[in-house]
Amino acid sequence: MTWLGACLLALSLMPTAALAVGYTQTKYPIVLVHGLFGFDNIGPVEYWYGIPSALRADGAKVYVTQVSAANSTEVRGEQLLTQVKQILAATGAAKVNLIGHSHGGPTIRYAASVRPDLIASATSVGGVNKGSAVADVLLKVAPPGSLSNSVVVSITNGLATVINFLSGGSGLNQNALAAAQSLSTAGSQKFNAAHPEGVPTTSCGEGAYTARGVSYFSWSGAKPYTNVFDIVDPALALTSLAFGGAKNDGLVASCSSHLGRVIRDDYAMNHLDEVNQTVGLVNLFETNPVTIYRQHANRLKGLGL
Ligand code: CA
Repeated sequence: MTWLGACLLALSLMPTAALAVGYTQTKYPIVLVHGLFGFDNIGPVEYWYGIPSALRADGAKVYVTQVSAANSTEVRGEQLLTQVKQILAATGAAKVNLIGHSHGGPTIRYAASVRPDLIASATSVGGVNKGSAVADVLLKVAPPGSLSNSVVVSITNGLATVINFLSGGSGLNQNALAAAQSLSTAGSQKFNAAHPEGVPTTSCGEGAYTARGVSYFSWSGAKPYTNVFDIVDPALALTSLAFGGAKNDGLVASCSSHLGRVIRDDYAMNHLDEVNQTVGLVNLFETNPVTIYRQHANRLKGLGL
């Protein structure tokens, strides 16, 4: 490299490094909560691919929790609360910032609703806050006549592929029915009646930005197929058929993802891109998902959370 080149490189790096210090340094620890069949790892790969390290790099304390892969929102929420208390004890922090993906959205809402005193913020990413048409199809409660049998078979096959991927090949377990009921439209309505904090009262608006001292946020994608090299994308293209043309990320409708302050509901991402999967194979023409998490940590920091 030439001397001039080295100088230019140094100049280009310096401001970035200076700006990055403390960029993600939230007041309270960030706690990540996975979705359906997600573990802290998918096989050898972390569920939140590259996200915890990117948040920690500029100051955040980050904890990755593990709750039941497939179970009701209430069961998962109680498991999460136990881990939140452990994190508070270990860190001495007064509260945590929860971020949940997919079924992790309702799961963090349960924790924030039951123990708002322990939660600074609850952020839902691709959250199933008003149910998923895919779960409705699985439970055979989709509007009759709205989908042909062949489309239903396609959706079910697509979902089986996604679940097999997320569970590391171990397939459905015995609590899958409880999970599907929690994620259905009817199950979500019942849950929302008991835990309404942050949920929009209109079909596709925003929810309260704060409720009982907890700040609520959400974002989601709206593009089921984003990368030809990602093996999950064809399956998400099939499951997206359940939505009859409504904006969705392959598993959740954009409107269902809304919670509290809606940061965006139409990133060109699918449901797994939202957690930077598969192994970083995301849409090259959209903001990187890791960047969006870093920006959100900075947003929380700016709000004193
Ligand atoms: Ca992807």
